[in-house]
Amino acid sequence: MNNDPGIICFHHCKTKNVFCMQIPAICPVCSSQMQNFIVDPFRVPCPFANAIHNPTSVVIRPSQGSFLDDYDMTRDDLHIGIVNSNGGIVEFDKEGLVENDITKWTDCIVLELVPAAWTAQWDKALILMSKDIKWKSINYDVINMNCFNFVLEFFNNLGYRDLRFKSKEELCERLILSKMYKAMQYVSLYRMLKDQEYLLSDHLF
Ligand SMILES: [Zn+2]
Repeated sequence: MNNDPGIICFHHCKTKNVFCMQIPAICPVCSSQMQNFIVDPFRVPCPFANAIHNPTSVVIRPSQGSFLDDYDMTRDDLHIGIVNSNGGIVEFDKEGLVENDITKWTDCIVLELVPAAWTAQWDKALILMSKDIKWKSINYDVINMNCFNFVLEFFNNLGYRDLRFKSKEELCERLILSKMYKAMQYVSLYRMLKDQEYLLSDHLF
């Protein structure tokens, strides 16, 4: 299970979309009974998912706390891990390689990057790295040898198409940033709906 807060969007009248957590009886835009929607109520897709339900993927979460309630993009670090084809999670941190710390990976950004035909190579690359003494805790460094170095080397070992990167910065820019911005839009919507019942917007999410 992940913790989808269940944001709903509908468009009843005029030009505004309404975002809310519960559909009201009376439209907050036109104050009439809610019927004949322009866009029927739908659940805004939550950008976070449980790592164990997303085999053969790369998963990202805040180093501390959750995206929805805690994360601040300008201040907080991200943590990144790799999920094998059985939903087993491997991450590199100050403890060295950590496997299946599943309770911390319930609400992640998930990157699915290779086709099913590459599942065996994906697992093999991960197993080879798991046996490499390079990823012992003693080699961990918060800046120069961290979870992103692990994922960077994983992709360079895997060798799938153009999933090769010269640096962690390049990896973040090409794989992560656009997904992050999209997810943070959802987060800001969620946080605004903690303080107000409705949010009116010209845009669909
Ligand atoms: Zn209305």
